[in-house]
Amino acid sequence: MARSRRPWLILTIVILLLAAAAAVALWPYYESEAPCVVLEPVPSHLGAHQTLVLKVNDQGMGLARIYLALRQEGATKVLLDKDLAPPSRWTRRGVNQVVERLTLSPKALGLKDGPATLVVEARDRSFSGFLQGNRTRLELVVTIDTTPPRLTPLTPRIYLNRGGAGMVIYRLSPDATRHGVVVGGHRFQGYKPWPKRPELALCYFAFGDEQERGATIAAYAMDAAGNLTRRPLPVRLRWRRFRHDKIVLSDRVIQTLAARFAAQAPPECKGELAVFLWVNQKLRQQNHRQIQKVCTRTAPDQLWQGPFLRPQGKPMARFGDRRTYYYQDKEVSRAVHRGVDLADVAHAPVRAAARGRVLYAAALGIYGNCVILDHGQGVATLYGHLSSLAVKPGQEVERGQELGRSGATGLALGDHLHFSVLVGGVFVNPAEWWDTHWVEDNLDLRFSQAGLPKP
Ligand SMILES: [Zn+2]
Repeated sequence: MARSRRPWLILTIVILLLAAAAAVALWPYYESEAPCVVLEPVPSHLGAHQTLVLKVNDQGMGLARIYLALRQEGATKVLLDKDLAPPSRWTRRGVNQVVERLTLSPKALGLKDGPATLVVEARDRSFSGFLQGNRTRLELVVTIDTTPPRLTPLTPRIYLNRGGAGMVIYRLSPDATRHGVVVGGHRFQGYKPWPKRPELALCYFAFGDEQERGATIAAYAMDAAGNLTRRPLPVRLRWRRFRHDKIVLSDRVIQTLAARFAAQAPPECKGELAVFLWVNQKLRQQNHRQIQKVCTRTAPDQLWQGPFLRPQGKPMARFGDRRTYYYQDKEVSRAVHRGVDLADVAHAPVRAAARGRVLYAAALGIYGNCVILDHGQGVATLYGHLSSLAVKPGQEVERGQELGRSGATGLALGDHLHFSVLVGGVFVNPAEWWDTHWVEDNLDLRFSQAGLPKP
């Protein structure tokens, strides 16, 4: 008896081993990890032309099918339904990632403004679920909104200088979530300073000295669905020319400035002239990007009143001067001077042009020891080349308060103050801001034209 049982026992063991081997081999095919579905952005609103990026990942067997549809009142509009290639026989790897960029135009699909459901589904090639695979399904309730916000400028005419600033007051429909003015490719943010009149907004903007003559100047409003309205502004642009300056660099000047910036310059800048050129071009650009970033931390309220205080001293260089630098009779560099240089006695007190808050008080590349003040609603002033600083970031300052003493730090040779005004991160001509008539006609008058008190 014992003898005849033996083959059965061996057979059972073999079958069990085969079953175990099969389970081990098939195990990965039964993985239970569902695909990961990401929508960018996760929409709460769908505008007239909404762009969505759908990213689907699967860690296991790979993806089998992805599907995206919009459903409204029983109607389903399929926007994407894609079967994906099975795993290759040799690599056994399927499609693990799919990125689809879609533009949804609800009107073209026959959908109305109002609620709808966005359905996204992804399946993988797992054998689990009776070979149906793992499934991820998202249902998002969205609002279809294809109606752009309304915007009406309340300013009859705007005189704008090349390199100068302007302001406009406009009325908005309540659905506007972002608004302001666009000049060329630059957007200036608008503000709502009248809590009792939430339909009214204002925006300070600038026509940068490098802006093209035909650049668009328009007020804009955008809603949560991304619908955009643009209204061209009634602007009369004065195309002023800027001065051209020839600056001859002596060996001594190059040596002095190169020594000052040697530690900051990258190692590939070999020689004194190379260091100077790096400072005048690359560092200048870097500094302007940093200043622009600092200026975004602006207060929503207007902190200043009336014209700006003009710093003491004799003007040495003007706003917008086009400078060409020569060394040993050859042109070596170019730059635009985006402020006013004023020379007084050495270590003269430097005063705040208007009430504001200190955004920055430290060394800043070509501007040496530098103070940047925020005056609210995107308006800022900058004081460069100081020998000492008397304020700290975050501090509130009054018009005329001492910020520090003039000096010759940074890219400066003699003691002077470099004074700049910025609007929305764009350098503008400071002379406008300390001219009482300009401030009255171009800023203050806007409020009375719109029948509003000054905020
Ligand atoms: Zn300067």
